[in-house]
Amino acid sequence: MTPEAFHISLQVWAFLVALAVGSFLNVCIARMPDDRSVVSPPSHCPACGHRIRWYENIPLLSWVMLRARCSACGTPISPLYPAIELLTGLLGLLLFRKLMPEAGDVSQAAFAAWAVYFVFLSMLVASTYIDLRHYIIPDEFSIYAVPLGVGASALLTWMGYEGALTWKQSVVGALIGGGFLLVVIGAYWLVKRVEGMGFGDVKLLAMLGAFLGTWPALFFIVLVSTLLGSFVGLAMIVFRGRSFKAQLPFGPFLAFAAVIYVFFGDVLIAKYLPSLMFVPLML
Ligand SMILES: [Zn+2]
Repeated sequence: MTPEAFHISLQVWAFLVALAVGSFLNVCIARMPDDRSVVSPPSHCPACGHRIRWYENIPLLSWVMLRARCSACGTPISPLYPAIELLTGLLGLLLFRKLMPEAGDVSQAAFAAWAVYFVFLSMLVASTYIDLRHYIIPDEFSIYAVPLGVGASALLTWMGYEGALTWKQSVVGALIGGGFLLVVIGAYWLVKRVEGMGFGDVKLLAMLGAFLGTWPALFFIVLVSTLLGSFVGLAMIVFRGRSFKAQLPFGPFLAFAAVIYVFFGDVLIAKYLPSLMFVPLML
């Protein structure tokens, strides 16, 4: 096999693995908010209890072949299931192309980095969905993932991955990420006597710090998520007459900014960081 053919087949493999992970995320999304196990019982139709057979559980394809209905009772299957699978699959593929754009970029270290950051992105997909629907961020994808981020940094450093954080940078990132939001929440509470953000956001930003480090990642994420959040909040007031009091979870903005950082952070920061530094001064 030529290096080019190997490179392409690895990308196909990465996409298929990512689709399968997306399928597992659907299980997490459905069960974690109720604290149910994600491994047992096996997947079944929520309407009639029909046990989903392996060939009814193939990402994307099964939903199309079943024509979006349970094969036993005909209850419609939400298009959100294949949408989550496709989103996760595409993130896995695009991440591969970001980290290993040429056949010559493929290495054990780069591959390990793909696995680490793909798990990271998958946790963001699931926690965003759960936060939008239930206004909670599961600990499994936030504070419990901090040691995972620290361990992953140590592993990538040991493997000699260029751009890996040291485990100390990971620990500092988690402490500064979580600590920063704690201070914000505390200050907000002192002034307004209400919780501006939830502790789920504190734990999520700690996790982002553990995987991405403090500088420039956390600065970028806080800035971009705040700008996006203000923009969407204002749009909601203008178009729907809602106030900021309407529940608008902040976690999805943090997650979205982190995804932007993973894919475009290097380019955006090289280009705009000097001017971005002035934005906090103007606010
Ligand atoms: Zn059914």
